[in-house]
Amino acid sequence: MSFARPRVPLGLSARITAYPVHTSLIAYRPISTTARRLQAEPVHGHSHVSDTSGHIKSPRGTGSYSAVNEPDKYVDPYKDGPGALDKAANLFFFTEIARGMWLVLEQFFRPPYTIMYPYEKGPLSPRFRGEHALRRYPSGEERCIACKLCEAICPAQAITIESEARLDGSRRTTKYDIDMTKCIYCGFCQEACPVDAIVETQNQEFSTETREELLYNKEKLLANGDRAEAEIAANLHSDHVYR
Ligand code: SF4
Ligand code: SF4
Repeated sequence: MSFARPRVPLGLSARITAYPVHTSLIAYRPISTTARRLQAEPVHGHSHVSDTSGHIKSPRGTGSYSAVNEPDKYVDPYKDGPGALDKAANLFFFTEIARGMWLVLEQFFRPPYTIMYPYEKGPLSPRFRGEHALRRYPSGEERCIACKLCEAICPAQAITIESEARLDGSRRTTKYDIDMTKCIYCGFCQEACPVDAIVETQNQEFSTETREELLYNKEKLLANGDRAEAEIAANLHSDHVYR
């Protein structure tokens, strides 16, 4: 019985690759002409040429063959793969174990990827968005002018502000609450603030045991700002050229 690979019309690819020539039952998988054109595009930088014997070299010696490399080339995985003797030698000499142990030995002499948190901490971006804080001016005056832009832009509606005018005509908040259980740390509030009053600090360690502890009021936010002002100012300064 003879076996042959059929020539199929453009846009169709044979699903059954080996079958008697005279068999009339052939299953076809439709492939769009665009997909075939993409498959046939040469891959730059890959050395996937066939050698003189007609065998296909794997790209960059990876040992894996992809149809992208030679879209029109038919490869028999049994005929062109590793031989039975190669497989038997690998099994007999436990080469997989030796290669695995070599990998372990390499890792043994490399510096560890892990750090001893919380005693060691990884670097944080100046743009890291952590716990919120309200800032003051160096004079001690609150920066917030109660414009309510942060409240308006907050997509989680986590901010609640009430305000009143002072005797000197300036406007300040009487209430500034953030429900941290709603907050999604998008950073919109600090982007919207015209006076850099509300900011997100680099503190990420503020887990609590009760939900109520995550309902921040103005005093809590101002205390956060007082505590982290030096760090906040340094981060804003390092990032201001990109804004
Ligand atoms: S970080 Fe986003 S979700 Fe959280 S309070 Fe600010 S605007 Fe609202
Ligand atoms: S924190 Fe900023 S944006 Fe929000 S009300 Fe105060 S000044 Fe306006």
